[in-house]
Amino acid sequence: MPLSLYVDGTRWREHLTRTAAASPGLVPVAKGNGYGFTVAGLARRTEWLGVDTIAVGTYREVAEVEKRFSGSILVLEPWRPFLDASMSSRVIHTVGRREDLAALAAREDRPRVVLEARTSMGRHGLSSTDLAAAGKAARGVRVEGHAMHLPLGEGHRTEVERWMAAAPAQCWFVSHLTKTELDGLHERHQNVDLRPRVGTGLWLGDRGALIARATVTDSHVVRRGDRVGYQQRRINKGGHVLVVSGGTAHGIGLEAPAAAASNRQRAVSLARGGLEATGRALSPYKIAGKQRWFVEPPHMQVSLVFVPAPVTPPPIGDEIEVQVRFTTTIFDEMHIS
Ligand SMILES: *Cc1c(COP(=O)(O)O)cnc(C)c1O
Repeated sequence: MPLSLYVDGTRWREHLTRTAAASPGLVPVAKGNGYGFTVAGLARRTEWLGVDTIAVGTYREVAEVEKRFSGSILVLEPWRPFLDASMSSRVIHTVGRREDLAALAAREDRPRVVLEARTSMGRHGLSSTDLAAAGKAARGVRVEGHAMHLPLGEGHRTEVERWMAAAPAQCWFVSHLTKTELDGLHERHQNVDLRPRVGTGLWLGDRGALIARATVTDSHVVRRGDRVGYQQRRINKGGHVLVVSGGTAHGIGLEAPAAAASNRQRAVSLARGGLEATGRALSPYKIAGKQRWFVEPPHMQVSLVFVPAPVTPPPIGDEIEVQVRFTTTIFDEMHIS
């Protein structure tokens, strides 16, 4: 029985087209669990949006998009000689080391590359000296632009300007700049093509269009003192134990309910398969208007949730709302209206 994602199609598509129209040069990012929609689903949407480039996280994801999207595919993970990298002419490689640039340039087919700056993220990329030198002297490759991946938040201006001055390029692929920051950059650098790479703000930017629902697969009356579950925990109040779809395989229990006070701690303790200190954890399942407590940590594909008396539990087969984090949830089904 499924954990399902319901999408208000009209509202979602409107948000996508509005975002694309407001972000010239937009490069939609489709990676990982596809922000809940699967990478393949996002590839089809990107084709529908009519942009010329999509970004994927890894080379493994190229195969999932190339049949569904007809434009260029920027791979965000840096090219390495040991990766099984597609060398299709539709693929744009991200380069973050001098030796990788040399290896790509030694090929006959002039691969398309983006040269990445090692920003304050400190994840991958060339130093500013190397980036400037590589940008000027690159032979044997087609440089499509430079790239910077910035930490979340605001206040990127100084860093962005520093990179643009140190390693000038006709085109910059940028990540995690705010609309205001982008507008400012457009204004100050009218001859530079800015290409924002956006995932969350695009696919999940209108949360109201998305709703996750689980199915009630079973329901049992419990009395105070009964023991249930793998851990045979004692129930300390009468009510019902509901078995609902969604378990660790879906990413349930990895996410913390948005409204909980100690979000992070709860996420950490649940991710380890334990419960918080009190022995209970608030589940992401909403029943009769309230998030309910887990009886014990989620199982592989279902969770046990406690509904105290006198609340009438929903009947078996009904769907209930789940508060999920879309980037860590794998849905069984997706319904787009
Ligand atoms: C994942 C990723 C993005 C998109 O991030 P969101 O926060 O989902 O918009 C952009 N750039 C790079 C390099 C990424 O890895």
